[in-house]
Amino acid sequence: MSEITLGIIGGGQLGSMLAIAAKKLNIKAVIFCDDVNAPAKNFCNQFITGSYDNQEKISEFINQIDLVTYEFENIPFETLNEINKFKPVLPRPSVNRLVQHRLAEKDFVNKLNIRTTRYVSIEKKSDLEALEDFLPGILKTTTLGYDGKGQYPINSRKEINSLNIDFSKGYILEKLVKLKKEISIIITRFSNNRYEIYEPIENTHEDQILKYSKIPAKINEKIFNQSKDWAILIAEELKYVGTLCVEFFIDRNDNLYVNEIAPRVHNSGHLTINAFNVSQFENHVRAVCGLEQIPLKKLSNAKMMNLIGDQITHYRNIQKFNDNEFFFDYLKKDIKEKRKMGHITTLV
Ligand code: ADP
Ligand code: MG
Repeated sequence: MSEITLGIIGGGQLGSMLAIAAKKLNIKAVIFCDDVNAPAKNFCNQFITGSYDNQEKISEFINQIDLVTYEFENIPFETLNEINKFKPVLPRPSVNRLVQHRLAEKDFVNKLNIRTTRYVSIEKKSDLEALEDFLPGILKTTTLGYDGKGQYPINSRKEINSLNIDFSKGYILEKLVKLKKEISIIITRFSNNRYEIYEPIENTHEDQILKYSKIPAKINEKIFNQSKDWAILIAEELKYVGTLCVEFFIDRNDNLYVNEIAPRVHNSGHLTINAFNVSQFENHVRAVCGLEQIPLKKLSNAKMMNLIGDQITHYRNIQKFNDNEFFFDYLKKDIKEKRKMGHITTLV
């Protein structure tokens, strides 16, 4: 029986599902979160609240655990680096720092000869004026964005003048890809050339928030293979340990682009809980804790639907689901518009 205590920074649904996976493996989960009401409170062995730069609380956390992982990437690098002096942090803080910065991330991917959208760094409003060939485009903050937050579509030069945003932050302007489809690859890397990789997942966004995921993705064989090869190359190059997600765009000419890398378990992989012998969460815990690697087996095709805002209410009232339906309520305290409240996976 293992005696490992895993620290998890972040107490949202991803932290909850990591804690559930840890429990299954007899690993104790201690969550550190800045929100007293975070849902992961319901699923972990111990819950510590404090801001992500509260040294006293972080020391208390470090004393409780053997190693640390995290459920979201926007944790100050200094915090992860400081913790890493006392207990191992996996994925490594330097990986997190690279991937949480959209410019550094895209530069890294391009150096591997992997295609991304065209992009340019923007430091002030006037930088935008000579960039007609990047329009229509999307202006994004270089850090701290998620679920489409911090993103501003710009269709034409005319729209630049009316932009009312804070240029003390750094931005990146990306050319808009004429999307045919979006897919993601989830891969868990254990060590050199040892990884488990899930098949491509097809994703549909609404208002820049993920709404549906499904397997199998309807894509051609070339994209199927190329997306997997690129995800493996990225994970190996980062010497990554744990579960990583690569989000891709496919354009109308069937060109594949890496959109972004998430150094963590990912919403599009929720269906792995029911559709595979080992979920992305269990694989993450296995990899970071140095447990046995189990060959991945697909059990079923599946589709997942996110329940956003008050869409959850209907499902909370259902007494009995069909045998192929799996409903997850994240138990968030308040229902808010655009907030991911739960999901339902259907095996098909
Ligand atoms: P987030 O960090 O919020 O997930 P993304 O860069 O992944 O940010 O953007 C969210 C979604 O917005 C994407 O999944 C895609 O649907 C759309 N999007 C973002 N950038 C582009 C782009 N350059 N071209 C086309 N669609 C885009
Ligand atoms: Mg994204």
